[in-house]
Amino acid sequence: MWDLCYNKLNMINVKMNIRNLKLAELTDLMLKAGFPKFRAWQIYKWLSDVSVVSFDQMTNLPLGLRDFLKQTFNLNSLTLQKVLTSRDESTTKFLFKLPDGNLIESALMKYKYGYSVCVSTQVGCRMGCAFCVSGMSGFVRNLEASEILEQVVLAQKFAGTRIGRVVLMGIGEPLDNFENVARFSELVSSPEGLNIGQRNITLSTAGLVERIYDLMRLKFQITLSISLHAPNDALRSKLMPVNKTWDLLQLIAACREYFEATHRRVSFEYIMLSGVNDGLKCAAELKKLLAGFPAHVNLIPANSGRRGFKASDPQTIKMFQKHLEDLGVQVTLRRALGSDISAACGQMRCIVQGGKYGGFE
Ligand code: SAH
Repeated sequence: MWDLCYNKLNMINVKMNIRNLKLAELTDLMLKAGFPKFRAWQIYKWLSDVSVVSFDQMTNLPLGLRDFLKQTFNLNSLTLQKVLTSRDESTTKFLFKLPDGNLIESALMKYKYGYSVCVSTQVGCRMGCAFCVSGMSGFVRNLEASEILEQVVLAQKFAGTRIGRVVLMGIGEPLDNFENVARFSELVSSPEGLNIGQRNITLSTAGLVERIYDLMRLKFQITLSISLHAPNDALRSKLMPVNKTWDLLQLIAACREYFEATHRRVSFEYIMLSGVNDGLKCAAELKKLLAGFPAHVNLIPANSGRRGFKASDPQTIKMFQKHLEDLGVQVTLRRALGSDISAACGQMRCIVQGGKYGGFE
C-alpha cells in the first residue's frame, strides 16, 4: 500500500485518500516514516469522527506528523453538490462530485429501526440491464474504497446520528469492482472505524458468478442479494445481458454454496414489470428455481426506469405475492422509498464529467 501510494504520487501526481488504508497498513506506514505505532490508532480514531474535515483538526498529533499527512494524503474526495429530500422525509438523495469531475449519487433512508445508506460503487455501469437507468451513460470507472466509504461518512454527518446499515445498491455493479468493494467492506466494518458490522451490509449483484465465489472465499458475513428479475434463462437473458455469461443454473448453484459457506440467507430481488415477468406462470417457475433452498424473495414495484417498461399494477403484484406464499416461498414486498426524488431502486444515475442530468435540475 505504501508503494502504491508513492506510485500514485509519481504517476499521476494525485495524493491517495488516507481513508483507503486499513489500520494495519497505516501502522506499517507510520513505522516506515519514523513515527510511533500508536499514532496510527490516533489517526484512525479521527477518521471515524465524521465532523473532521482537515488534518489540522487532529489536535493530539504533533505538527510534524500533521504536515507529513497533508503532504502525503488527501482526506476528502467527495464534495456534496446537492441534497434532495422526499416529501415524506423518509429518503434523502445526495449528489456528490468526485475529484475528476464525475458525479455520483447516494441515498439515506430512515426506517423505524434506524438509518440505512445506499452507496454507489462505480461511475456508470457495464451491466446494461434493460430496465435500469444507472448504466445508461455507460461505464466510466470504478470507485476507490475511500470514495465508497466517504459516502457513508457524509451521510452519517448529514443524519447527525449513527448509520446502522449499508446497502451496495446504488450506481454500479459491486462485484465488477471487487477489490475496492472488498476493501470498503473491511474498512466500514472495522471496530476502530465506523464499525458497521458485516451482517448489516447487503451487497446486491446482477449475478457475476465467479466473483460470488471470490466473495465467499473471503469469508465475510455480508448479506448477498441477487437481482434475479426473471425465473427462466430466455427472459433473464433478454432483460439482463450478464445472464448470457452465467445462466440461472450457475447462479443458483453459486448462491447455494454461498449460503452453505456463510449461513447467510440469500435474498432475491424481483422487479415487477407489467406483462413481462408478473404472470402466475413466472411465480411457479420461480418457486421451482428456488426449491429446497432458504431463499427470500423481495418483490420490487418497478420504478420509472428506461422507456418501454411499465410497473405491474398493485392488484397483479398482490396476486403474484399470494401465489408465491401459497407455494411456500418466503416473500416480501419492498416499500418504494424516495421515488419522488428519483432515489429509488434503478433510478440513480451517474453524470459523466460535463454531462447533463435531469434529476437535480
Ligand atoms: N448492479 C447491482 C447493484 C445495483 S442495485 C445489481 O444489479 O444488483 C439496484 C437494484 O435496483 C437492482 O436490484 C436493480 O435490478 C434494481 N432496479 C434497476 N432498475 C429498476 C427499476 N426501474 N425499478 C426498480 N428496481 C430497479
